[in-house]
Amino acid sequence: MDGEGAAPQPTYSQLLKDIRTGQVRELELSPRQREVRVQFKDGRQARVAMFSNEQQVLRTAELAGVPLSVRDDRADAATASLVSNGLLVLLLLAGLALLLRRSAQVANRALGFGSSKPRLQAEGSVPVRFEDVAGIAEAKEELQEVVAFLKAPERYTAIGARIPKGVLLVGPPGTGKTLLARAIAGEAGVPFFSMAASEFVEMFVGVGASRVRDLFRKAKAKAPCIIFIDEIDAVGRQRGAGIGGGNDEREQTLNQLLTEMDGFAENSGVILLAATNRPDVLDAALMRPGRFDRRITVDLPDRRGREAILSVHARTRPLGEGVSLSDWASRTPGFSGADLANLLNEAAILTARRQQTSIDEQALNDALERITMGLAVAALQDSAKKRLIAYHEVGHALLTTLVPHADRLDKVTLLPRAGGVGGFARTMPDEEVLDSGLISKAYLQARLVVAMGGRAAELVVFGPNEVTQGASGDLDLVARIGREMVTRYGFSPLGPLALEAEGPEVFLGRDWLRSQPHYSEETAQRIDTQVRLLARQALDQAIALLTPRRALMDALVERLIAEETLEGDTFRSLVEADERRRIASGSAGEPSAEPDVKAAQVGV
Ligand code: ADP
Repeated sequence: MDGEGAAPQPTYSQLLKDIRTGQVRELELSPRQREVRVQFKDGRQARVAMFSNEQQVLRTAELAGVPLSVRDDRADAATASLVSNGLLVLLLLAGLALLLRRSAQVANRALGFGSSKPRLQAEGSVPVRFEDVAGIAEAKEELQEVVAFLKAPERYTAIGARIPKGVLLVGPPGTGKTLLARAIAGEAGVPFFSMAASEFVEMFVGVGASRVRDLFRKAKAKAPCIIFIDEIDAVGRQRGAGIGGGNDEREQTLNQLLTEMDGFAENSGVILLAATNRPDVLDAALMRPGRFDRRITVDLPDRRGREAILSVHARTRPLGEGVSLSDWASRTPGFSGADLANLLNEAAILTARRQQTSIDEQALNDALERITMGLAVAALQDSAKKRLIAYHEVGHALLTTLVPHADRLDKVTLLPRAGGVGGFARTMPDEEVLDSGLISKAYLQARLVVAMGGRAAELVVFGPNEVTQGASGDLDLVARIGREMVTRYGFSPLGPLALEAEGPEVFLGRDWLRSQPHYSEETAQRIDTQVRLLARQALDQAIALLTPRRALMDALVERLIAEETLEGDTFRSLVEADERRRIASGSAGEPSAEPDVKAAQVGV
């Protein structure tokens, strides 16, 4: 009841008295709740507890002539129980419905398991154009034809020309294969379906095949269009290859892909583009005419290509004055389009963080370092360890400057990087070597000597007992290059024989038996001897070059410790000045090539 407020509730005896003295207007009895509700004449209201079978109040009220009513609690109780029961039933029903829906979903999923979910970009909505793809002119040229066909198929069908159904784009990752496929769809204004081949393959046999069917059905309904399958080697690998025999699911998927490619009529307007960087492992059936009959190589860009790609990505990013993209193209040999895009993006992020408005040289420099060497961490204090690292790196840097045919020094630094790199001497591969793909024996020998520079410097400066494991990465490189020189390029007295094939991949390739060597035990030993000899000669030569330049090394190390980083040009000018001094003082001339005594104690 309302209005009880803070007024004290009357006691039972008080209530009887109030009734008798005529202060109560009316009473309402609730037998079930064992209380009486009191309405006073002055407007107050109150509840007073009672026994269940209370007679006294009734009698007193009757005597005082106070009207008394009895509340019908049964109706209330009935409503309450109805409501609570109803709620319970409703809850049960809702639970049941939820359960039913769940199981229906599961059933649906099971039935629709095989349906593919290609990423579809509708007609005219692919924003990429050929002008966004740079540096791979030949590939673009070849694909123009596909665009022309998609735009006006009648022109080709009228004279009976057959347009390839499948085009295979082959090249290392990040060279723009996906971009190229999207550009074709964009130029021709047709829908673009894309899926990675790994998305076909599921745990259950048959799912992949049904996904392939589904993808082609969806594509045919939208012809003319482009289907792009990325990393086709995930399903297109040669059947029955690898350790442990074939993989049923993959083979079924591949069979279905082959069937679908046969199934769509020539010039149906569906063009299948696929990308891979392992064309050698693809099943021969995929490559026969009528399937992927066109094969386009998308290679890493050359210097001009890199410049063009940088310009494409610089279109949306303001470059500071004095930033020369052509210089940057020269400084990034071996970078793919994706690497270059990443370089500019990292530089843009750094620029934004430094609250500058345009990307300057410094930002690009820092971005390059971050990409190639990882995040910078705090510099080392000047300590014996730092000094040792400095000698090690100066060893590499000095040799790459001194040895003819070696790579050009870009910079040497003592700023450590995440992952335990204490410092590094970075070199730039010769553009010509890289672009031509031809590597000379002299170049490889020079690389061996430069790689040994760190160990040699430690030997010359600290002696054979103080050398560290810091050169382990270098020794790895030496062993790898040396082995390739002997077993693959015929650069050793063993003669012009290719004793090993490229790559050690066992279960990725076609035939794992092929990776077994085809030579005798004795040849194996001779190979080992030759590799050891190459390494030994490289170390000897490195020591022979460093020993007479000990003073120069000391000076360079001091300077490196003071400045932390020396650019290639500065380093070269310091070395040249010293060489001139040596010639003037008559101590130049090639240092004695006699092997150092210390070196003889180090087993490589
Ligand atoms: P792939 O498919 O060959 O692995 P992508 O086409 O996915 O490589 O390339 C990734 C990104 O790298 C692209 O989105 C683009 O920004 C950039 N890129 C790669 N190659 C080029 C190129 N030739 N021209 C312009 N940008 C490129």
